[in-house]
Amino acid sequence: MCSDIAEIKDHLITALRTLSLPVDDVNVVVKKRSKCFWGRYYDYGTPKDKRPRIIIYALKLGCDEPYSNSILLYNSIHEMVHYIQYHDPKFIRKKGVMHDADFYSLLNKYSKRAEKIGLIDMKEVRDVFAKESVG
Ligand SMILES: [Zn+2]
Repeated sequence: MCSDIAEIKDHLITALRTLSLPVDDVNVVVKKRSKCFWGRYYDYGTPKDKRPRIIIYALKLGCDEPYSNSILLYNSIHEMVHYIQYHDPKFIRKKGVMHDADFYSLLNKYSKRAEKIGLIDMKEVRDVFAKESVG
């Protein structure tokens, strides 16, 4: 398990690249924690880095322990799929619908790919997300 934020970020970028996700097109930001979100996608950058941003919250609430690599990578894939959808010319975002059927089919495709090469334990992911949903 990764122990600090910079290490987590390096691991996630490498893993996303291994999955052939367009990780160099986004600015991956790893933050400590959020009460409401596992991750976020912003389709715009900052003055310093103009690329769209994905933000991953790495630490569990109430302690300094990070989530497992499986959970962090699953959340990163989730945010990358938002990027893919936003930049697909055929994508039409319906008001109030953040995650449509195509979203879940892409999320599944990349999660399965990650599971196949041993980057994600999907049983663990299913256990954690049985009760909660990702932002
Ligand atoms: Zn989402």
